[in-house]
Amino acid sequence: MKSFDIILGDITKIKADAIVNAANTTLLGGGGVDGAIHRAAGPELLTECWALHGCATGEAKITKGYRLPAKYVIHTPGPIWQGGTHHEADLLKNSYMNSLGLADAHRCRTVAFPSISTGVYHFPLDQASGIAIHAIREFLAYSLYVEKVTMVCFDEVTKAAYEKVLEK
Ligand code: ADP
Repeated sequence: MKSFDIILGDITKIKADAIVNAANTTLLGGGGVDGAIHRAAGPELLTECWALHGCATGEAKITKGYRLPAKYVIHTPGPIWQGGTHHEADLLKNSYMNSLGLADAHRCRTVAFPSISTGVYHFPLDQASGIAIHAIREFLAYSLYVEKVTMVCFDEVTKAAYEKVLEK
């Protein structure tokens, strides 16, 4: 039975087969959830990321989770909001779909996401939450291994926005 839930929490504490990192295109760490994941995983994560030579917006790359409770970290740079006319919606959907595709290819059963692009990348939360949930549902309909996806919201406002999409 496949499932999707929304929780309030810190993604670095989640014991999933894979957690997703809202990275930047360098994959060399940054602020927000990216910084928290690198701090919790330890310096070996940065060493592995160096060898990946970056990642394009909407694409995804996978590493080990090191000191995290998660087995893998899937790094995806979401789009920076530039008013909505720069393919931001398609790129955000790509981030979710490519992350889930990589998780499935690595036979992950459980995957946790942060709210990609809605922090310093300023993607409007009401739109981002709809894109995220529709992408996750679409993927879960045909995934081979991924059966449980959790949206890990860091604050109540974010959680409420995702819950509102589910109510529709
Ligand atoms: P982006 O650059 O993609 O906008 P941010 O890290 O700035 O990424 O923000 C994405 C979301 O992740 C925001 O809702 C932010 O509050 C949230 N966030 C920050 N730290 C954590 C964490 N430890 N666990 C889960 N979500 C987090």
